[in-house]
Amino acid sequence: MSSQWNGQFSCFDLVARKERGSRTIVRVGDIAIGGHAFVVMAGPCAVESERQLLETAEAVALAGARILRGGAYKPRSSPYSFQGLGVEGLKILKKARDLTGLAIVTEVMSPEDVGIIAEYADIMQVGTRSMENYALLEALGGCGRPVLLKRGMTARLEDLLRSAQVIALNGNCDIVLCERGIRTFETATRNTLDIAAVPVLKTVSHLPVIVDPSHAAGVRSLVPVLARAAAVVGADGLLVEVHPTPDQALSDGVQSLDFDQFGEMMRDLQRFVPIGSAIEGTPELIFAGGEA
Ligand code: PEP
Ligand code: MN
Repeated sequence: MSSQWNGQFSCFDLVARKERGSRTIVRVGDIAIGGHAFVVMAGPCAVESERQLLETAEAVALAGARILRGGAYKPRSSPYSFQGLGVEGLKILKKARDLTGLAIVTEVMSPEDVGIIAEYADIMQVGTRSMENYALLEALGGCGRPVLLKRGMTARLEDLLRSAQVIALNGNCDIVLCERGIRTFETATRNTLDIAAVPVLKTVSHLPVIVDPSHAAGVRSLVPVLARAAAVVGADGLLVEVHPTPDQALSDGVQSLDFDQFGEMMRDLQRFVPIGSAIEGTPELIFAGGEA
């Protein structure tokens, strides 16, 4: 942890935690993110069809998820990959909410789309590639919806907090931070889950922090164990990719769980969530700074 952070939060003062114990709870309907409950957001990487999404919505709701994820606008690594269904995808998400009662989180990539996506979504997701799109962050300041801000894959935690500050400065303090793995020299996993990000962020900021083990791992067999780790270090919830037939998914199938695997992960987590709930931030530990 950078020792300059010690008492110098000027670049992200609106999202910095000033007193022990004071936390933001982001409310979405009757769901409280950052309170006592561990909130799981689950669903496919991308909305592919009505059937795919509705089946997934029912399965994840039954397993205990409260929020349905699914991209209608997809930022793909290749321009030749599936780019998402756009407004048609948003309509399918709305239908899933009407049928299951799940809240909806979906990605927004450009300031021009903020208005239309805010009409359908309960939470606006900013992806790793957009974390420093300041025009987008500014537009989200006035969108009237909570924002799920994912960490840029090469961003430091300070950069993430600075982006959160831009949203807050523009009038929206309902922000959930998300650690989704960063790029390192390691190639065995798609990204490297920076598990320390959770206690660091929860100490420095009052915002809720969740973990996306799917994009961190890049492979489904690692997702449940990374989810355990997230719960134990005190994350406020998870964002997990789930698909009815992962091997046929149009995006991120390799890292997506099927319904049985998701159900099993949710049952397994019940042992680990109470451990994490007992954790508070520990400033005295992380402000050590020090030389490399
Ligand atoms: C996603 O959630 O499907 C996604 C594209 O995530 P990220 O921005 O973290 O890569
Ligand atoms: Mn994905």
